[in-house]
Amino acid sequence: PADRIKDEKDSVWSEFIELALKYKPLNLGQGFPDFAAPDHVTKALSEATLSPNILLNQYSRGFGHPRLVNALSKLYSNLCNRQINANKEFLVTIGAYEALFCAFQAWVNPGDEVIIIEPYFDCYEPMVKQAGGVPVFVPLVLKEESKNKSSISSSDWVLNEEELAKKFNSKTKMIVINTPHNPLGKIMSFKELEFIANLCKKHNVIALMDEVYEWIVYDNNKHVRMSTLPGMWENTITVGSAGKTFSVTGWKLGWAYGSEKLIRPLQLIHQNTVYTCPTPIQEAVAIGFETEIEKFNTSSSYWKELSSSLQEKRDKMSKFLNEVGMKPTIPEGGYFMLADFTELENKLNIPKTDDNETKDYRFVKWMSKNKKLQGIPPSAFYSQSHKNLGENFIRFCFMKKDETLNEAEKIIKEIK
Ligand code: PMP
Ligand code: GLN
Repeated sequence: PADRIKDEKDSVWSEFIELALKYKPLNLGQGFPDFAAPDHVTKALSEATLSPNILLNQYSRGFGHPRLVNALSKLYSNLCNRQINANKEFLVTIGAYEALFCAFQAWVNPGDEVIIIEPYFDCYEPMVKQAGGVPVFVPLVLKEESKNKSSISSSDWVLNEEELAKKFNSKTKMIVINTPHNPLGKIMSFKELEFIANLCKKHNVIALMDEVYEWIVYDNNKHVRMSTLPGMWENTITVGSAGKTFSVTGWKLGWAYGSEKLIRPLQLIHQNTVYTCPTPIQEAVAIGFETEIEKFNTSSSYWKELSSSLQEKRDKMSKFLNEVGMKPTIPEGGYFMLADFTELENKLNIPKTDDNETKDYRFVKWMSKNKKLQGIPPSAFYSQSHKNLGENFIRFCFMKKDETLNEAEKIIKEIK
């Protein structure tokens, strides 16, 4: 095999999906809903394939199906308060994954540095390396004064500004920011983004914004788009996902948007790798957006309903985790929750099977096999030398039916 993948191992997804197939646990691991996607979107897909317009089953425009890029342009032009060109400033991709991949391939030269904030969605690191880039890590850390609080919020996890500023230098090409965040649920505040934006502008660095959870926001939190900060349109590539936007993770459709200068190179990578995404899926997602644009900010908006029903699920999960002494970090957005299992684990006698294994991998595997409940070990979201920062936590997904969460509660309360 080629040198660029010689150090590649199974990702946490490959490993833990195998485990789920083997032990058949109640699965709160990988993030996806176990309930139906919105009707108007799933119906649109079946109608697209059966449409009298038979061409909807054939190839569409390579950089994005016209109906979809027009809908994306309408929505994001409004949200970003600028006219975004449907053809030149968008690229439709196979999931957010492909948008991220194209961004790294299109902008990172061998030796360029890319700043990644830990914990991070695990594919960022191998993708940067595959482009020849050098990942530079900066962790979010739980504020000292928050450690003994009775309820920890994802906003208690912060960047050390001085440490971050020191990572920017003449080799820095890009910084990757995920807000709302997987796995912490942190939503970057305007002030936090502004600090990063000023560094990007000063050092001419691209902000690659992973905003796939943009519609999943709790309480009075507000998702701020980096591309709307003063002077940042010119420096920002933003990535989104239909899987998260319409709860259809299996459709694997995503997009990137930004200035023509930033997006054109991504289009050039896409045209000779994927070329074009499935037409019926793009048509259905376009119809989904058209409907949601009509209902925007009304009480029947799918995104409003989704956030408020997920907020109840979040509260339900944090309550039962607290009751068993698995201290959760309450997310401001997204659909994952980290819980500190130290107190619970101290009462258990979990055998060590592999000296190289981090504590969270051991705990998560033990729970899958013996208690039939699956989470994800967050040390997978840290670089090799910082794995210890994630070791005391387990990540649960709460994008699940209430019955599933009740079942999880029962299992957790029986762990002794
Ligand atoms: N970024 C983050 C933060 C994610 O959690 C995910 C998970 N799906 C992705 C990107 C990839 O999204 P997609 O399924 O659309 O490729
Ligand atoms: N984003 C989802 C998660 O974090 C799915 C990950 C994946 O499919 N690779 O669980």
